[in-house]
Amino acid sequence: MSINRVPLLDLAAQNGALKTEIMAAVERVFDSGKFIMGPFVEKFEKEVSSYLNSKYALGVSSGTDALVLALMALGVGKGDAVITTTFSFFATGGAISRVGARPYFADIESDTYNICPRSAKKAIIKAMEDGYKVRAIIPVHLYGQCADMESIMHIANEYGLYVIEDAAQAIGSCCIYKGEAKQAGTIGHIGCFSFFPSKNLGCLGDGGLVTTQDDVLYDKLKLLRTHGARPKYYHAEIGGNFRLDAIQAEVLSVKLPHLQKWHDGRKNNAKQYRQLFKESGLLEKGLITLPAERYPNLNNGHIYNQFMLRVQKRDDLRNYLTEKNIGNEIYYPVPFHLQKCFADLGYVKGDCPEAESAANELIAIPVYPELTIEQMQYVVDSIKEFYAKEN
Ligand SMILES: *Cc1c(COP(=O)(O)O)cnc(C)c1O
Repeated sequence: MSINRVPLLDLAAQNGALKTEIMAAVERVFDSGKFIMGPFVEKFEKEVSSYLNSKYALGVSSGTDALVLALMALGVGKGDAVITTTFSFFATGGAISRVGARPYFADIESDTYNICPRSAKKAIIKAMEDGYKVRAIIPVHLYGQCADMESIMHIANEYGLYVIEDAAQAIGSCCIYKGEAKQAGTIGHIGCFSFFPSKNLGCLGDGGLVTTQDDVLYDKLKLLRTHGARPKYYHAEIGGNFRLDAIQAEVLSVKLPHLQKWHDGRKNNAKQYRQLFKESGLLEKGLITLPAERYPNLNNGHIYNQFMLRVQKRDDLRNYLTEKNIGNEIYYPVPFHLQKCFADLGYVKGDCPEAESAANELIAIPVYPELTIEQMQYVVDSIKEFYAKEN
């Protein structure tokens, strides 16, 4: 059977294979009547902290709320500045403004698309000159690969900053820190994760997680997760409703044991693509660039939440792929420093040139674990066809 359609993501393939177990999990919560916090959430928190090799893990309502809660727990607010990459999903930048702090955006590395440590340092100095108290830096482990944590932690120590890792796209991803393999989200002060359905570990709706290795921060995160109530109805602090639903927690408990297998599927697909693109001849012509791996020899050095191609004539290619029924997406078309909602921060075009070209040249192609070799061949053939017609 010849292939004529490849979706960007096939959630039915993954969740469908586990339907009986997942529905049984939903039924367990239904029958227990324990919908808010309680044993299912606690059980999942234990399982996921063990998976991540993290001292603490707390289920929260989303990856976005994980970031807001992390900033609140660190007491970041008015008069403070927080440094982050200009190139990420909106939540990373939005969370900083939502707690009343001033975001300072750094440019990215041209190969990994993660925050550039040198640019981050410049942003810190600029924020200090502007009279802000720089409190934290949020590196994002974009597309499933860790930012340069060695350099980020070094800079954070130098300036006395908290480090919040946005690991929403990188659960289970590893990097080398101080000569050891470490999991994304366990190196800085707080790690933030998302279980949005399109992440490597997705639930049946919204969900997220915060991690920390610090006893005091753990207590604070836990307190603020439920309106700062301690005891119930007594509030020394203002928190929010940042809880993970028990149903989502129990579904995640079913899915978590399969996560490494799904990472492996994505990693194998990435490897397959490398081979197919090499054979296609498109690489020598400089028409496309494959994603860089910072740690090619490290297990889970890149878990490929997204497989991003850097291409010429991106928008025309995108239309062509869409015509060919090949799912694709632009992550992300507008860097934070050029978003309308941040216009008052005074950034202009040219301030973060690497992110600006990445925003114009990157395109995501399907890499989900259940993809077949025939589907990948169809994707690569279609891209080859496009450039053959163009030239
Ligand atoms: C998905 C994502 C978030 C937000 O997670 P939600 O669960 O959708 O709120 C934050 N940061 C990054 C980098 C993400 O990819």
